[in-house]
Amino acid sequence: MGKQRIFKEGIFKEGSLESGNPILVGSKCKSCGQIFFPKKRVCPKCMSIDEMGEVELNRRGKIYSYTIAYVGPLEYAPYAFGFVELPEGISIFTHFTDCEPFEEKLKIDMEVELTSGKITTDEDGTEVIGWKFRPVKEG
Ligand SMILES: [Zn+2]
Repeated sequence: MGKQRIFKEGIFKEGSLESGNPILVGSKCKSCGQIFFPKKRVCPKCMSIDEMGEVELNRRGKIYSYTIAYVGPLEYAPYAFGFVELPEGISIFTHFTDCEPFEEKLKIDMEVELTSGKITTDEDGTEVIGWKFRPVKEG
C-alpha cells in the first residue's frame, strides 16, 4: 500500500476513519448556535471570536445538488460532486462515490451517507484521503 495523508488535519473525529465509519467534525458557535464545516475560529454569522466548539456531524444527509464532470484528469473522469444537506441544516461540498453510472444513480433528495476515499494524489504519489458521500444501502 502506498503513502496516504488526510486532506486536512482535524476534519475527521479521531479514530473514526480507521473504524470504517468516519465522522466529520465541524464547529458550533456557542454564541448563535450556527454550525459550520469545515471548522472555523471566527463565526461568520455573528462574528464571535473564540466561541467555536466542536460538533460531530450526522453521517447521513440528502443530495441538494450535483454535477457530473466528464473532463479532468483521466484517472478521475467522469466524477460527480455537489452539495449534501445535513439534518443540522448545513450543506457541505462533497464528491460522490459508489454510484456509477452517475447519470442513472444520482438523484436530488437521495439519501446518502458519509464515507472516505482518495480525492487526489500529491506529486510524490501520496494519496490524499478526504470525505465522500455514497448512496445509503438499505438493510
Ligand atoms: Zn455565531
